[in-house]
Amino acid sequence: FPRPAQTYKDFKANQDQRSGANATERVNATFVTLARNSDLWDMVKSIRTVEDRFNRDYNYDWVFLNDQEFDEEFKKLTTALVSGKTHYGLIPKEHWSYPDWIDQDKAAEARQEMDRKKIIYGGSESYRHMCRYESGFFFRHPLMMNYEYYWRVEPSIELFCDIRADPFRFMKENDKKYSFVISLYEYEATIPSLWDSVKKFMQNHPEHISEDNAMEFISDNGGETYNKCHFWSNFEIGSLEWLRSKQYIDYFESLDQDGGFFYERWGDAPVHSIAAATMLRKDQIQFFHDIAYYHVPFTHCPNDEKTRLDLRCSCKPKDNFDWRDYSCTNKWFKVNHLEKPNGWDKKD
Ligand code: GDP
Ligand code: MN
Repeated sequence: FPRPAQTYKDFKANQDQRSGANATERVNATFVTLARNSDLWDMVKSIRTVEDRFNRDYNYDWVFLNDQEFDEEFKKLTTALVSGKTHYGLIPKEHWSYPDWIDQDKAAEARQEMDRKKIIYGGSESYRHMCRYESGFFFRHPLMMNYEYYWRVEPSIELFCDIRADPFRFMKENDKKYSFVISLYEYEATIPSLWDSVKKFMQNHPEHISEDNAMEFISDNGGETYNKCHFWSNFEIGSLEWLRSKQYIDYFESLDQDGGFFYERWGDAPVHSIAAATMLRKDQIQFFHDIAYYHVPFTHCPNDEKTRLDLRCSCKPKDNFDWRDYSCTNKWFKVNHLEKPNGWDKKD
């Protein structure tokens, strides 16, 4: 039978309950950050904002992952700032290197070509390993195996409003598997053959494609072509068990075989988003209207003034990216028949 549609309002209602007291009912969840030692000072900012706005009342753990060993300074400082337990993991070499079916000369040529065309991170080898790692491996790092949900945090992000209700608990209690705050269009030049690869997967694995999925969000013609909409994955709260499922692993391995992480520059954002939009029901994907967020260069700031005052927000509503031309959030609302928040059309 059809489940009641969940909207961003359901989480909002929970925001009236005070946090802290609920912390005894914590979910089995962790923050997770992939970072280099050189990201320390940008990471410190992100931790402070997450702790001040949310985690000081909940004390969730934080897992840090790196392709090199974290140094003592990184560990000392981040452990001092995180209110929960911290864990530091080294990424195994096999998860941060070329699979044997990849032609490394072809990959190097692709990088040079994309560098010449000035495609963002087009010439970077490490960025490609990073995107592949976030697409297919972070959730099965040994340190992640004991957790059910994750919240991804990158260096230099900002949270602008108090987060009182526990988003992890909201995810679990409402059977949500993936969530976002900002969505936008991907650069075509980074993913020319991604959709062909996805279509091949869908043909080979029709059993993994969900009924009532969000295909309409990522394709304007019933799946023939990709419209490049994706959830911005530098913020994610999601289910680790979903990412570890046969469904998702089959998907990742199928894409990985096609080599686009190296021959093109597939980002983990479109890879995660397409997985969510095809293999989950659309009501398993949550838009967190109340989690005000910044990652350069975009801001998500609640339109609704009452929300901003109640949650002591510090963002400027006119910086909100949601309803701009380059955002896909409008499409998300249409596809899900959601009512836009109060004040969405206010210009100042
Ligand atoms: P952008 O947000 O797409 O501009 O990319 P970022 O530079 O923020 O990288 C995305 C995430 O991966 C951030 O959390 C970075 O700290 C991390 N990251 C990027 N490159 C590397 C790398 O070579 N090694 C490690 N350990 N982390 C990386
Ligand atoms: Mn980033």
